[in-house]
Amino acid sequence: MTLKIAVIGAGPSGIYVAEGVKKKLPDTMVDFIERLPTPFGLVRFGVAPDHQGTKKVINQYEKFFDQEGIRLLGNVEVGKDISVQVLQEHYDAVVIANGAREDKKLGIPGEDLDGVYGSAAFVSWYNSHPDYKDLSPIPEHAKSAIVIGNGNVAIDVARILVKSAEEMADSDLADHTRIAIDNASISDVVIAGRRGPVEASFTPPELRELGKLEHALPVIEGAVIPDELPSHIDTSQPAGRIKGKVLDIFRSFTEMKRDGKDKTIHLQFLASPTAFLGEGKVEAVQFERMELNEDGKPTGTGELFDIPADLVVSAIGYYSQPLEGVPFDEQLGRYPNEEGLIKDNLYVVGWGKRGPSGTIPTNRPCSFKTSQIIMDQVIADPAKQGGAAIDKLLADKGSKVTTFTDWKAIDAVETKTETRQKIASVDEMLAAIEEAI
Ligand SMILES: Cc1cc2nc3c(=O)[nH]c(=O)nc-3n(C[C@H](O)[C@H](O)[C@H](O)COP(=O)(O)OP(=O)(O)OC[C@H]3O[C@@H](n4cnc5c(N)ncnc54)[C@H](O)[C@@H]3O)c2cc1C
Repeated sequence: MTLKIAVIGAGPSGIYVAEGVKKKLPDTMVDFIERLPTPFGLVRFGVAPDHQGTKKVINQYEKFFDQEGIRLLGNVEVGKDISVQVLQEHYDAVVIANGAREDKKLGIPGEDLDGVYGSAAFVSWYNSHPDYKDLSPIPEHAKSAIVIGNGNVAIDVARILVKSAEEMADSDLADHTRIAIDNASISDVVIAGRRGPVEASFTPPELRELGKLEHALPVIEGAVIPDELPSHIDTSQPAGRIKGKVLDIFRSFTEMKRDGKDKTIHLQFLASPTAFLGEGKVEAVQFERMELNEDGKPTGTGELFDIPADLVVSAIGYYSQPLEGVPFDEQLGRYPNEEGLIKDNLYVVGWGKRGPSGTIPTNRPCSFKTSQIIMDQVIADPAKQGGAAIDKLLADKGSKVTTFTDWKAIDAVETKTETRQKIASVDEMLAAIEEAI
């Protein structure tokens, strides 16, 4: 008997959960319900435009979609065009794979000032996400920016702000972003974190890239880098070894010469933002200086200081979006689950399952575990019509559902030029599909 599965979201975790089931039960039919006409989630809209190598995973995903029994129902938003409950009625299993696209807020005064953005919005804008095409976040004469957060997303944002057009030549950065960055010419970027260099969550390859920029020099005060790792870090474990490498890279930054570089990326540690300052638009961020206790936990010293900035991007994490009728942990910003099972025939994978952490490869084994649980628990029910019922329902509503073939039409238009020129509006995507028919 054929299993019929609906996956909400066509990003990495959704693709991997379907791959896990198809490997063992090749007859399984999987419908991906995706709110955009374009699949691949954050691989398209999160991964930085100058990291084209990382985006190559899309080639594997394309092959996956080309097989029998896999469909993309694009331009359909669950929670708006169709409910989770209706999907549960018509499919044997429903898997939420909708990622985490809401910015975590700092909850400090001035967060609503012009010029203050969360990284979900800012990154989506420079990656041409249709929801953010009109954002225009960079003030025309911006010279300085602060990126709050000590993870790889903060590095991505800082790097994109200081790279020249030549350095981005092989990227798929949108024209509107290129123009905004060039018009502003930001020369001073501060990456600020409330903890110390040891506690930062940067990974070595991404951090190393900051030392290879043509026009920007990474600057770090040597005094904040400890001579050796604290005793609570176990260097026999991979995570501990990564910390050691990260400290080595910080040390190498202290020895770098300016060599004509006219831009700076300053790594500011032990600084916790307390307010965004400015009249109508942001002009500075107020920080409290922190110190670390023996376990590496930051505590406030009461000393306040300001850093001026024309633009602030806070990259401190994400929340998943709740879906009506589905249990949701507001505190953690994800769906409570046991190895992916939420309840009945409803499951979750990816950032909605674990929270917003982990790279693209992290999702594969994590989704495979949930695939196994689905196969152990779910028995195909001949009464469930799967996609046939959903197609009719959406057609009756007049929804313009797009397919994987339609994505190929969008892809063909975007890749006519040497580097991809992403279409940043759903209407234009639908027009490109029409034209291809
Ligand atoms: C800025 C940034 C940069 C990153 N860079 C890297 C990197 O360089 N290398 C790396 O390995 N990892 C990177 N990651 C991490 C990686 O992108 C994630 O691990 C991965 O994308 C998570 O997969 P997911 O399927 O859970 O979510 P997503 O990739 O977000 O996919 C979710 C999908 O669900 C869709 N969706 C959402 N809501 C609905 C709804 N209601 N109805 C229908 N569809 C819906 C979305 O449109 C999206 O297509 C980065 C993440 C971010 C945020």
